[in-house]
Amino acid sequence: MSFNVSTSDRVELNDVTGEVIAEIDKSGVKEGIALVYVPHATAALIINENERGLISDMTAAISDLIPRDRRYEHDRIDDNAWSHLTSAVIGCSLTIPITGGRLECGTWQNIFLVELDGPRRRKVIVKVIGA
Ligand code: ZN
Repeated sequence: MSFNVSTSDRVELNDVTGEVIAEIDKSGVKEGIALVYVPHATAALIINENERGLISDMTAAISDLIPRDRRYEHDRIDDNAWSHLTSAVIGCSLTIPITGGRLECGTWQNIFLVELDGPRRRKVIVKVIGA
């Protein structure tokens, strides 16, 4: 199961919690785990609070994770080494428990696709395992 997200900026956070919940509902799984995965080398996934100021803070913090002013070998090929390195540091998958048919995310936890080389069309894969 998967869904697509169209991003609009070079670096941005997209809340995909609703889409992930819809995939879990479709699966009918009540007890298990959801693996959320992006098959991309310049995107990532995080869980955190969806609050406007915090999203702005996280976008700024993510932008500062990897130095931009360094010479990277990969930039000779397609000029996006920073995007690859940041994706590698943040990670491209999440594993979330499902209990009683619901994601066990805390009240202030949402799932975000992190675009690092947008705008692009991204795919998010959701594998639901359980019974
Ligand atoms: Zn590249």
